[in-house]
Amino acid sequence: MTSAPPTFTPENIPTQQRRKGGEIRAVCLDIDDTLIDYTTSARCALSLLVGDDGAWSVWQEITEEYAAKVIAGELAYEIMHRERTKAFFASRGERLDDAEAAGREHRRKELLDQQWQLFSDALPCLDWLRGSGYKLAAVTNASGRHQRAKLAMLNLAEYFDHVLIAGELGTGKPDPVIFHTACFMMGVEPAETAHVGDRLDADAIGARDAGLRGVWLDRAGCAPDAPPEGITAITSLADLPELLVCDLSLSVPRPR
Ligand SMILES: [Mg+2]
Repeated sequence: MTSAPPTFTPENIPTQQRRKGGEIRAVCLDIDDTLIDYTTSARCALSLLVGDDGAWSVWQEITEEYAAKVIAGELAYEIMHRERTKAFFASRGERLDDAEAAGREHRRKELLDQQWQLFSDALPCLDWLRGSGYKLAAVTNASGRHQRAKLAMLNLAEYFDHVLIAGELGTGKPDPVIFHTACFMMGVEPAETAHVGDRLDADAIGARDAGLRGVWLDRAGCAPDAPPEGITAITSLADLPELLVCDLSLSVPRPR
């Protein structure tokens, strides 16, 4: 009779195995769709705002377009939110003035604040990381005030030594500046730091190219058989402790 393979959870990693690699001293974590189920929450809020669940894909496309303008320095976050709302409603045949667009964005955020929920693996992972002595930073591409309010609402801020928000720094992932700033604030080298996030490009590849260990949280399990060079893929945050302390195959960042 064969026994079931052992499973790793944040609770059952033996103490003597911790820091086996001795290399990673700090962990950066993305927030939206990594710790917080942003997509489900935002989709629900938009559906409540417009009464149409089918509007989500258009909202996503327009958000990607306007977020890229912010990252490129072409648009300020505050203006982006208003202009995105205008563009979204224009796609539905409704032209809004500035005041009406700002009002609807305000209402969307009110609805959003009622929807936030964490992924079930988020707090066990954060508890384990803190209990194991890793320095922790949140690295997020959101705007400042709303993101800090969200972190406070969900009691997430207390887990992090530092919170880096693109809307406050004026630059976001995949710009190496935000990753290097996080490492500097934590007092560690990039090579001693892993960054975990749901976006292959902005999170995992961006971190790798900045000299950190890039970990792609592929919750949907859509990773190709071999992730890009220097990237490690996991499908749950429950896999992170084992990766950090036991998996010696964690790829070495590609030299730049
Ligand atoms: Mg994300």
